[in-house]
Amino acid sequence: MMYDVIIIGKGPAGISAALYTVRANLKTLVIGLNDSALHKAGEIENYYGVPHPIPGKQLLENGEKQALRLGAEILVEEVIGIEKEDVFIVKTVKGNYRALSVLIAAGQKTADVKIKNISKFEGRGISYCTTCDGFFFRGKKVGVLGYKDFALLEANELIPLTNDITIFTNGQTPEFSSDLSELAGRFEINVKPISAFEGGDFLEKIVFEDGSEYPLDGIFIAYGSASTVNFALKMGILTKDRAIVVNENQETNIEGLFAAGDCTGVFKQISVAVGQGAVAGRRMIEYVRDKKRNA
Ligand SMILES: Cc1cc2nc3c(=O)[nH]c(=O)nc-3n(C[C@H](O)[C@H](O)[C@H](O)COP(=O)(O)OP(=O)(O)OC[C@H]3O[C@@H](n4cnc5c(N)ncnc54)[C@H](O)[C@@H]3O)c2cc1C
Repeated sequence: MMYDVIIIGKGPAGISAALYTVRANLKTLVIGLNDSALHKAGEIENYYGVPHPIPGKQLLENGEKQALRLGAEILVEEVIGIEKEDVFIVKTVKGNYRALSVLIAAGQKTADVKIKNISKFEGRGISYCTTCDGFFFRGKKVGVLGYKDFALLEANELIPLTNDITIFTNGQTPEFSSDLSELAGRFEINVKPISAFEGGDFLEKIVFEDGSEYPLDGIFIAYGSASTVNFALKMGILTKDRAIVVNENQETNIEGLFAAGDCTGVFKQISVAVGQGAVAGRRMIEYVRDKKRNA
């Protein structure tokens, strides 16, 4: 199935863009999880047209209903990466989806893993991108830090490069999907809580809270679900301070790839996300129409 537009994220930015693309008759797929920043918000009273405070969750549900009524498709799946061949391929835990253009509206989750020396060894044994750095660790002893499907799929990316791969969950119980159980069985899973990364110039070992150690050459951070930063690293999207760099049309440095909302590092408000989503939607309509005209 080929889509005109795939939107990653079903928060205010993603749904706002979908309202425009779907009403311009573009085949629009929205893929998102149920963890928009707005889920955590209590009552919203500073958004236009809200006479009485409205719970963030309610606003999200209204937005989804509106997009569905107008003809958008919405899937609740975790996106783990984007690739570009002749068209874009958006990869999720469950499958691959193709589109002429893609909007990243994935919000800005903050990295929720805090382990001593993690930043000290970034680029010196600690990486956030198997696609970018996996090759440096061929034949070596590596780990992946995480406990969800994203960690499993990052470990899978490393299989062609080395057969010594351990998944470290840092005390978390693994939350792997049952349809990935065969893949999970291919890796050693270490569930001990970690206290620090240690080494000299480069990472040499993990030290656990129980005082035991695990020597290794490198570790890939894939904690929780894939974030905007992960997509950016894999695709070579220009970022600044963990936010995607866009122009006034919400275009990134990659043709056909757009970004809107919190992930662009703007004033983190619903109104701004909705506004950027609208601008992105309008420009994507022009982009897709041009693309089809010149095909
Ligand atoms: C506690 C709190 C209170 C707030 N109060 C207000 C307020 O009163 N007024 C106001 O204007 N703003 C408020 N905000 C800010 C507002 O919620 C955000 O600015 C807004 O939600 C940003 O919209 P967005 O679409 O860019 O990102 P988000 O709403 O965060 O949506 C991101 C979407 O991307 C999806 N996603 C991310 N990664 C993946 C992945 N790997 N695969 C699939 N989907 C993915 C998420 O599941 C989600 O659907 C508040 C925020 C918080 C946290």
